[in-house]
Amino acid sequence: MTISYDIYDPVISIGTVAKRLGVAVQTVRLYEKEGLVLPYKTQTGRRLFSAHDVERLKCIRKMITEHGLNISGIKQLMALIPCWDYRGGFDDDCRICKVFSESIGPCWNVREVGAKCRHEDCRLCSVYRLEISCDRMKEIIHGERRKELLNNSIEPLRGEEETDK
Ligand code: SF4
Repeated sequence: MTISYDIYDPVISIGTVAKRLGVAVQTVRLYEKEGLVLPYKTQTGRRLFSAHDVERLKCIRKMITEHGLNISGIKQLMALIPCWDYRGGFDDDCRICKVFSESIGPCWNVREVGAKCRHEDCRLCSVYRLEISCDRMKEIIHGERRKELLNNSIEPLRGEEETDK
């Protein structure tokens, strides 16, 4: 029997998350405090994580243990995600938004955001919900431009080959 579930449903306790990652509960709390993950909080203050949150945390652990990054480095990396590419494109709201002008950390940690993002529940936002995979960071950070660059690079390269003959 196949059980289907929503990867964004917050149903996993912090203890289970810590066990899956092989870290202490305090470590998961630290990642939350630093804004690397946004667990859902129940009315009683209990934290619940989704499968997507767990994947995000696995990627964070990989960046730390295999890629040698620290928490500040990861925050800087996440600050490079062009949220506007995933939120309808760059517009006047983005022009005056601190996420665009400064490198503070992931956009969901920044208070002074543009009007279009001010009332967003970040857990539900398409930027937070991006598939954060350590193997796809370039794709995520360069957003749509990466596809454009790849397409545009084909013609000039061919041109160079022809002039070499
Ligand atoms: S967080 Fe700021 S830069 Fe990002 S999409 Fe929203 S308004 Fe634009």
